[in-house]
Amino acid sequence: MKAHDGMYIDGAWRPAVGTDTIEVVNPVDEQVLGRVPAGTAEDVDTAVRAARAAFPAWAATPPAERAARLGALRDVLTARKDEIAETVTAELGSPLSFSQAVHATVPILVAGSYAELAATYAFEEKVGNSTVYQEPIGVVGAITPWNYPLHQIVAKVAPALAAGCTVVLKPAEDTPLTAQLFAEAVAEAGVPAGVFNLVTGLGPVAGQALAEHPDVDLVSFTGSTAVGRRIGATAGAAVKRVALELGGKSANVILPSADLAKAVNVGVANVMSNSGQTCSAWTRMLVHAAQYEQAVELAATAAAKYGDRIGPVVNAKQQARVRGYIDKGVAEGARIVAGGPEFPREQGYFVQPTVFADVTPEMTIAQEEIFGPVLSVIPYEDEEDAVRIANGTVYGLAGAVWASDEAEAVAFARRLDTGQVDINGGRFNPSAPFGGYKQSGVGRELGAHGLSEYLQTKSLQF
Ligand code: NAD
Repeated sequence: MKAHDGMYIDGAWRPAVGTDTIEVVNPVDEQVLGRVPAGTAEDVDTAVRAARAAFPAWAATPPAERAARLGALRDVLTARKDEIAETVTAELGSPLSFSQAVHATVPILVAGSYAELAATYAFEEKVGNSTVYQEPIGVVGAITPWNYPLHQIVAKVAPALAAGCTVVLKPAEDTPLTAQLFAEAVAEAGVPAGVFNLVTGLGPVAGQALAEHPDVDLVSFTGSTAVGRRIGATAGAAVKRVALELGGKSANVILPSADLAKAVNVGVANVMSNSGQTCSAWTRMLVHAAQYEQAVELAATAAAKYGDRIGPVVNAKQQARVRGYIDKGVAEGARIVAGGPEFPREQGYFVQPTVFADVTPEMTIAQEEIFGPVLSVIPYEDEEDAVRIANGTVYGLAGAVWASDEAEAVAFARRLDTGQVDINGGRFNPSAPFGGYKQSGVGRELGAHGLSEYLQTKSLQF
């Protein structure tokens, strides 16, 4: 797609106040794909005013009308699926087949789920002698990362619109073209002017201005824990609602009764997909000591198969960061059994799919989020030890448990301090709540839980 040289504000593409731009680079060949405006606090203010002006009318629309607009949005995303996949591949670098199967498809499911929820949700209920209303919070400032560029946007904008909120979106600087495409889709879906607005720009400039804007009622942020902490502090000082979807360091716990080969293979695939740039990736594989060497061998073989099949990471900074972590793993005594720190190609931000063995739970690579195709295999002695290691990070976003008996896996999963657990490779559910325990965040996205983040409660007594 061709980059817009404006911002989508109040139903039209308008020039930014300043003249600075952001270069969008293809991570595969390092070529510049286009430029988008680098918005400033003034652009953010214009967008927030538009969202505020549009709020009363949108909040008052019957839920059925909001459901119809979301249904139309789902249909536009479906019709433009190929273009979306190509755009994500161009600016994120993910293989086209993955962009088609995941980046372009999941947002259709999520938009569809909110079309349905808007039509069926109980925005009003009777509690004894009271009527309790769920009302939209107001203007939402949405700040999103680049790793699943469209999914992250739809996971905020669809529930916000379903609730009756209006939105200003500040997408990640690496993937603004997908965000522009989404703005086109919103317009095509007949969403009224000002209900959805897009300001492209840098995080510390446009993002910060949005997070600090006094007329934003709720800040919904997905990104790093470092930035999330700041945004949470700013929102706290203003007594403002905030939703934070942050980092993760999820454990894939393989219990001794599990099908080891299957659990290892699915676990490696999970970490390598999207080049390891998935917040919920199971980057720590926990295996019983008696099965450890066998699991390491299986993991190394599985990872080697991904050699040429994964895309690059998103940019040069991220590539250097991932290599820094691989070097650190070696320096702290872990053993590389697949991949390594050397970049596999001269051009593009590629990193080798890497597996570490002999990782102890305290090592940096077992504690910090790497956000690259790097897996640590960690031995445990018994179930108590596995629980302790799995819960032994500041994060708690996701995880996996494998066992021959589902009840055994469920009992273990209930002991994990984490927001989502896949049992024996369970399938993605676009309506299941997603979000973190501990420093992985505050609040939930997707499904009815995600919708309730954008609502506030009023009760009338009779
Ligand atoms: P990041 O925090 O650097 O950026 C995320 C967004 O915040 C971008 O739009 C960026 O421009 C903006 N931003 C940066 N500084 C800001 C500031 N001072 N004020 C306001 N906005 C600012 O994160 P990233 O590197 O783009 O994304 C990777 C991180 O996101 C990883 O830690 C990953 O785990 C996390 N993530 C979490 C989830 C989840 O659902 N929990 C999903 C995807 C990614």
